[in-house]
Amino acid sequence: MSRHDHDAAGFGTRAIHAGVAPEPVTGAIMTPIFQTSTYVQPAVGHPHGHYDYGRTANPTREALEANMAALESGAGAVAFASGLAAIEAIVKRLSAGDHVVTEENTYGGTTRMFSRVLARLGIGFSYVDASDVEAVRAAVRPETQLIHIETPTNPLMRISDVGALAALAHDAGALLSVDNTFASPYNQRPLELGADFVVHSSTKYVNGHSDVIGGIVAVGDLELAEELSFLRKSTGAVPGPMDCFLTLRGIKTLHVRMRQHNANGMAVARFLEAHPAVDRVLYPGLPSHPQHELACRQMDGFTGMVSVDVGTIERARALTEHCRWFALAESLGGVESLISVPALMTHASVPEERREAMGLTPGLVRLSVGIEDEADLIEDLARVLDR
Ligand SMILES: *Cc1c(COP(=O)(O)O)cnc(C)c1O
Repeated sequence: MSRHDHDAAGFGTRAIHAGVAPEPVTGAIMTPIFQTSTYVQPAVGHPHGHYDYGRTANPTREALEANMAALESGAGAVAFASGLAAIEAIVKRLSAGDHVVTEENTYGGTTRMFSRVLARLGIGFSYVDASDVEAVRAAVRPETQLIHIETPTNPLMRISDVGALAALAHDAGALLSVDNTFASPYNQRPLELGADFVVHSSTKYVNGHSDVIGGIVAVGDLELAEELSFLRKSTGAVPGPMDCFLTLRGIKTLHVRMRQHNANGMAVARFLEAHPAVDRVLYPGLPSHPQHELACRQMDGFTGMVSVDVGTIERARALTEHCRWFALAESLGGVESLISVPALMTHASVPEERREAMGLTPGLVRLSVGIEDEADLIEDLARVLDR
């Protein structure tokens, strides 16, 4: 679905209005949940428009797609059953013998899918620190079809230069895909910087309420959207209508939520950086972040994701298990604050040697700072850290 006439409106206005219109029968202002698997056809081979079967087409899903395309400055978007299904579809455009250069510090499940599932089908993967453009260039081969990055990365908060990597990919005859889950479209729009695919685990900031698993890819080129729709129809990883409705509802407050996540994230990062029990804070909004300048250039805000190194696994456990408002849980991007130990949780599937090589230490704690009151969150962390 295209973004049509909402191009000129601001982000918050598009979040609320793009892709949705009052339902024509009753005027219901909210997009109906078309909870149906099939559609009655008035004559053989003549369905109502393109609505023939639920895996192929669903109006609730199409509203979500048009909305996200507008937020990511894309021509179209394709929604999937999960973030991993969305990333899988981007890679499944390729064939055996093709090659992908990818960030080594992606979401743990992405690395697991690449190395233990898709590599078995004959697609080659090279893992690099994509914040180093030269390292990416050195890994590109004649058969490279895709560069897949995540920026900021999970949980090391590395920043990759989207514009430079898009140029590099295009020179090599490849496409660039950016996992924008950590930033959200409010803070970063990779298609505007030259990327070909922007992918979200909409489970996180996009939906924002920790009640849906979903994924979505936005693209600047409608042909790519058609390819992805074909792959989804052919392989089956469709999101349900109810989940599309909930995600669309979540997006209506994305801009308001992200402003508060950004403010709370910055406040927590500053507090932690000044605390003697903390060795290192990784937050792109702090001048101490090695790529702070690049982050300022390509991001409008720095989110609520903050990683801290407290030195040892014991201290990481103590911090994560004794907070009152930060709940010990995987995932991120919901309104409530979460805290986790990546080496033991989200990144446990990444081999230990690879974790150590990239600096994902056992004492690293990842915070997803929610939108509660800043003072309560800081008091919570202070109480545990001061012990
Ligand atoms: C959670 C996450 C994924 C996977 O998404 P699911 O919706 O859990 O399948 C991919 N990338 C990033 C950055 C994530 O945080």
